[in-house]
Amino acid sequence: MSTKRECTRCGACCVAPDIAALGKALGVPCIHLDEQNLCRNYEQRPEVCRSYEADAMCDLIDAPTLDARVAKYLALFSLVPGRDDHRRLPILR
Ligand code: SF4
Ligand code: SF4
Repeated sequence: MSTKRECTRCGACCVAPDIAALGKALGVPCIHLDEQNLCRNYEQRPEVCRSYEADAMCDLIDAPTLDARVAKYLALFSLVPGRDDHRRLPILR
């Protein structure tokens, strides 16, 4: 999943994955995500967020709601919140 895409600011990548640098668990919204799915901490966001780019995965998880996109992300990687936190994913490490 490497072909670059335009980010639609759908918010899914700030909710679905666990992000060790932020102490964020799977499926839990980042504390910095605002109601418009924008980052309140954009200038100080960690490197893992800075280096993340939209790619073909964003198309695969497309859905009408944030909850549905997060569910599709977790299903795509066979991740279960509470069980698979901090499992190594190639896209976020
Ligand atoms: S999942 Fe993809 S489209 Fe949605 S905010 Fe993240 S990078 Fe952008
Ligand atoms: S710090 Fe910002 S960019 Fe990174 S996961 Fe949180 S809201 Fe998203």
